Amino acid sequence: MSTLIKDVDVDGRATHLYIEGNRIAEIGKRREADTVLDGRGKIALPGFVNLHTHAAMTLFRGYADDLDLSTWLEARIWPAEAKLSPEDVYWGTKLACLEMIKSGTTTFNDMYFHMDEAAKAVKDMGLRAFLSEGIVDLNDPGRAAKQFRAAEETNRKIERLKTDRIRPAFGPHAIYTVSKDSLLRIRELADKEESLVHIHLSETKREVDECLAKTGMRPAKYLESIGFLGDDVIAAHGCWLDPSEIEVLARAGAKVAHCPISNMKLSAGAAMPYRALREAGVVMGLGTDGAASNNSLDMFETMKVAALLQKFAHGDPKTLPAMEAFELATRGGARALGIDAGTIRVGNLADLILVDPRRPELTPRHNDVSNWVYSAHGGVVDTTICDGVVLMRDGHVKGETDILERAGDAARDLVRRA
Ligand SMILES: [Zn+2]
Repeated sequence: MSTLIKDVDVDGRATHLYIEGNRIAEIGKRREADTVLDGRGKIALPGFVNLHTHAAMTLFRGYADDLDLSTWLEARIWPAEAKLSPEDVYWGTKLACLEMIKSGTTTFNDMYFHMDEAAKAVKDMGLRAFLSEGIVDLNDPGRAAKQFRAAEETNRKIERLKTDRIRPAFGPHAIYTVSKDSLLRIRELADKEESLVHIHLSETKREVDECLAKTGMRPAKYLESIGFLGDDVIAAHGCWLDPSEIEVLARAGAKVAHCPISNMKLSAGAAMPYRALREAGVVMGLGTDGAASNNSLDMFETMKVAALLQKFAHGDPKTLPAMEAFELATRGGARALGIDAGTIRVGNLADLILVDPRRPELTPRHNDVSNWVYSAHGGVVDTTICDGVVLMRDGHVKGETDILERAGDAARDLVRRA
């Protein structure tokens, strides 16, 4: 299967982009292809990588706003999640995929429950994803055993889907919800299966204080001390990391997902120390977090808020300039996940989007990257291609009306049961 995007703008020049199978095979020559897209006037950009989310939480969009993290989780989200059915996760994930396709995301790193159903939704929608069944054992060995069985079964089911686009990972929720024994078991399994590990780390001051009281160490130090850290760990948030922890993460090669909107909405109290992490050479990307704490999955919005939050937090408008924000959202996320994506380059995966700049909010074009980060929004995406397959053309995704209806129904029923 081949696709030619003719007369499209790549890195500031009009050219032809040729995709063969799931890779970008050539940039420059006009070639015969099975599908030809007219790229005239449009700009090709790499698809975004959402490095931390809980896709099916789209069902809780607008359900519990304006609460602190512990009330939000313990009084509203966890009771509702206890009623989640596998079918809810399927429709919630489908809705998330639809939103991501429409706003230019082609890969996401997800942690939630019933992930075999999430995998089916991702397979149907055509995106690339790393999926981890969330482990929340609350220090209960019986509960841990059950969840490990579920996680391993889910990962086998994902492997049986036989697609390179969807890879299983391990998802210990956080150090305050997962026992040391379970963390160590996950380390062993991740080594054996060469899977990524996705964990929330240093999100709130309470997490740091409790860890200090219990172990005498800060969260990242604690994870290092038990031998959990490695270059396969994607740590979400990192708001309260101190210099000694940044050193530990850099040494281990762990990656950090910055989720500025969720941190601000739940008022985590500190901004991820971007400059220090960058200076230490830690690979970082951007995440939206789930739609219950954002409330959208729009990576354009996340780039802008990341740049603004970091400038504000550092008291310096030169911090996190537009180009760095754009790179975090594309190449940074791709590096963190170890995929050949995040740039438009021959040999890379054909995960890309087309944007039509002929819009008021993108005019004039003094600086396109500035426009993408500070002025654009998901609605500027015209075409989305993932793994060489066109998932959206002229702003339209197949089956979208049905997804909106079914996911809306699932959300209404779920909240009624909760
Ligand atoms: Zn999260």
